[in-house]
Amino acid sequence: MAVETKTFQNFIGGEWVDAVSGETFESTSPATGELIGIFPKSGADDVDRAVEAATSAYEDWRLVPAPARGEILYRFGALVREYKDELALLMSREMGKVLPEAGGDVQEAIDMSFYMAGEGRRLFGQTTPSELPDKFNMSVRMPIGVIGVITPWNFPIAIPSWKIAPALVCGNTVVFKPATDTPALGERFVELLVEAGVPAGVVNVVHGGGAAVGDRLVRHPDVPVITLTGSRETGVAVLKAAADHLKHVHLELGGKNAIVVLDDAELDLAADGIIWSAFGTSGQRCTAASRVVVHERVYGELQSKLVAAAERMRLGPGWEADTDIGPVINRSALEKIHSYTEIGQEEGAKLLTGGEVATGNGLDQGFFYRPTIFADVEPEMRIAQEEIFGPTTALIPVKDFDDAIRVANGIRFGLSSSIFTRDVNRAFRAMRDLQTGITYVNAGTIGAEVHLPFGGMKETGNGHREAGQAALDVFTEWKSIYVDYSGKLQKAQIDT
Ligand code: NAD
Repeated sequence: MAVETKTFQNFIGGEWVDAVSGETFESTSPATGELIGIFPKSGADDVDRAVEAATSAYEDWRLVPAPARGEILYRFGALVREYKDELALLMSREMGKVLPEAGGDVQEAIDMSFYMAGEGRRLFGQTTPSELPDKFNMSVRMPIGVIGVITPWNFPIAIPSWKIAPALVCGNTVVFKPATDTPALGERFVELLVEAGVPAGVVNVVHGGGAAVGDRLVRHPDVPVITLTGSRETGVAVLKAAADHLKHVHLELGGKNAIVVLDDAELDLAADGIIWSAFGTSGQRCTAASRVVVHERVYGELQSKLVAAAERMRLGPGWEADTDIGPVINRSALEKIHSYTEIGQEEGAKLLTGGEVATGNGLDQGFFYRPTIFADVEPEMRIAQEEIFGPTTALIPVKDFDDAIRVANGIRFGLSSSIFTRDVNRAFRAMRDLQTGITYVNAGTIGAEVHLPFGGMKETGNGHREAGQAALDVFTEWKSIYVDYSGKLQKAQIDT
């Protein structure tokens, strides 16, 4: 595609500025290698300037009435809707998703902006009776200050919205570090916030790597909250680095999600759900189904359906109408995915289809991997335990329902799960027993709605949730207020 290449800047205190060092890095398309843009390769100095701007803007922003903050988010949501097609195309070019999925990513940001805009007129606290006469008690949500927002490349418009929209409506200011693989989308996101009327300094963007920009943000003493979506390894590093200042750290990390298919499942429906969940976004969703736990009675039949469907899928650039699977994000992801194919074979799993880099028809210009299915996978094999983050899924046979739940739960992660069954009793047991933050019944593992909490149990996170009302707990502190109108000293809990 013919495209216009541009040089971009950081956005600090309402000004577009270069990195202090003057250094830059490039963003390129994973489908074709075309240059998307040139971005500032920032460092600690740039982060410090952005935090200073956000700290100073906080003093006014926290006092803007919450409904007025929400109005800006309404305008932002409307602008994202207006530019949805442009954003989806840019996403397809910069990150690789097929266009309908890119549109879905943008739609999540629209939905989240409108949802959080409405929070401007809620942000409910509580009032409660007092144990003493002539005394009024309430609890209110208070903004916290500067929020450090660190995002991955796989949902480059949706995830920033999941963090920045609630942060802003709650009265915080933001320093945003987008992923280095998707800086153009991070940039465009901020441009639209500015167009929507976010005042100078309230949102700042600093481009650059995790070790330089991200780490400085995490360690900066004036950033009390860090919200990170990324890999487990990054989550551990961030949690440790944030410890010295006892920061609030909100982590949304990796997954190794299982779809359970019981012997009474509607198998065509299950196959559709598995293909969509395993290979959508080229398997690069945190909720992707990288394990399929199948009752042995339907194992053979399901396997044939899956292989046939996977082999029908067409690989290509995400913006071409007949593409089913786009590229993976970069060369190192391609190499990592292929190394797991080799690991699976060494472990004794049976490669049913895929397992190779896709070439020919122009695919050599990008990072394409054939949809890969392993059979006869043992639950403890590395391909069934570790996050591969590519179009690879592992079929694990089980004997019965209890075995299925045990295998599904037998991992360190706990993001999403699903069960296909027509037995309502077993469906309800699975809803209770699957150790994940999200469980689907008779649907794949992907496709969240913004008004419900989103996040994982176990080592997928540290107990917080994004989206829904739960997100407000990340971006506010509770304050309890007692108003004594008795006109005399009343002592709580002290016998009089
Ligand atoms: P990543 O961990 O490599 O990077 C995430 C972000 O952290 C990037 O902006 C990166 O620059 C930054 N970073 C890296 N090291 C850092 C450090 N030491 N200090 C501060 N920041 C640092 O992850 P990725 O490859 O961009 O994304 C894929 C991962 O994200 C997968 O593990 C996936 O499961 C996970 N993910 C989770 C969810 C969820 O909601 N649970 C959603 C999407 C993606």
